[in-house]
Amino acid sequence: MRQQFPILGQQAHGYPLVYLDNAATTQKPERVIEAVNAYYREQNANVHRASHYLSAKSTRAFEVAREQVQHFLNARSSNEIIWTRGATEAINLVANSWGRANLQAGDEILLTCLEHHANIVPWQLVAEATGAVIKVADIRADGSLCMDSFSQQLSDKTKIVCVTHASNAIGTITPVADIITAAHQQGALVLVDGAQMVAHQAVDVQTLGCDFYVFSGHKVFGPTGIGVLYGRKDLLDAMPPWQAGGEMIEQVSFSGTRFNSLPFKFEAGTPNVAGVIGMAAALDFLQQFDLSQLAEHELSLRQKAEAGLQAIPGIRLVGEAQDKVSVVSFICDHLHNQDIGLLLDQQGIAVRTGHHCTMPLMERLNLSGTVRASFSVYNSEEEVERFLAAMRRLVMAEQPVDEISPKLPEQH
Ligand code: PMP
Repeated sequence: MRQQFPILGQQAHGYPLVYLDNAATTQKPERVIEAVNAYYREQNANVHRASHYLSAKSTRAFEVAREQVQHFLNARSSNEIIWTRGATEAINLVANSWGRANLQAGDEILLTCLEHHANIVPWQLVAEATGAVIKVADIRADGSLCMDSFSQQLSDKTKIVCVTHASNAIGTITPVADIITAAHQQGALVLVDGAQMVAHQAVDVQTLGCDFYVFSGHKVFGPTGIGVLYGRKDLLDAMPPWQAGGEMIEQVSFSGTRFNSLPFKFEAGTPNVAGVIGMAAALDFLQQFDLSQLAEHELSLRQKAEAGLQAIPGIRLVGEAQDKVSVVSFICDHLHNQDIGLLLDQQGIAVRTGHHCTMPLMERLNLSGTVRASFSVYNSEEEVERFLAAMRRLVMAEQPVDEISPKLPEQH
């Protein structure tokens, strides 16, 4: 598995690279890099426009990839899969298209405390424009979503619930199935932000019954700049276009324009074809494994990291709920988060520090930020041990970095 990721073989600051920032972005396997390369070498042409050989080839690959995402999410039709630049753009699409057409003054948009800024700010903008009101469901002390609070905030004024499937900052998984059932009983739609989930657990949008589901390719071993909006066909059909230009039209004249059908209605301009091809290769990569086995591996890495960190005096785990993806967030009494990040980096260990684009969650937890180690399928027990050894020495012995783990010989 690990050998399929060429980037992982390198050194950082003279140490073997230990990449524990997978919640920010995952590394890319050889077959994704190769697929993007091969696309530019052998297939590059604009899609859906020309009738020539290359265009037919790239259009076919582009639409086959859409079907692959359809099967990945178990959507009913590939017309329900819209290509976007990422989760952020997918949420903005729904907020701007569905939100501006359907929300009125006094309507409520229900978010949770766990949301990434990408699932907050677009809704704030649409609330400002329409007079809708934002409500927020709280969390429990262990970082899990408080369903009592959710039920209290949910009412017949709620028009849409926007909830993350898993928190990028502290890893907690939300009970989306229960949320969707409750929301639908009140007549509200549900958008699920799956950015942190799709690389870890199989997602079935029909079983979940969600109305919208979004994710980004780069967090599931695919390229940056490509993402997906899944939307129920009847909803997408009724929604007005958001961005406008080529591809999304059927007929244009100065007296008026007829828009294209789904999914093209929401795909203005030349799409990121190479990104789509890379995303398809990433899903091929992922689907050769048993996802539950990968999740087990990630769970054992997370539990090892949690146990090791808890044994270090002065370290406090943030979000101790057990139903989590492979994210460990913590703070240390004696060291500033950023210093921990810098000192780990000096030993080749990549973690993330700060608010993780979840400032409201940090405020709720009374923290300015955390240190976050997030694990992926290619991380090893040995890497977790290196991380823990580095943390123990940083916090307990405060030795100079070079004494903690000797530098490797220079790599040429
Ligand atoms: N939602 C969550 C939970 C995320 O973790 C992220 C990325 N950190 C996003 C949304 C936004 O994803 P992107 O920046 O790829 O659009």
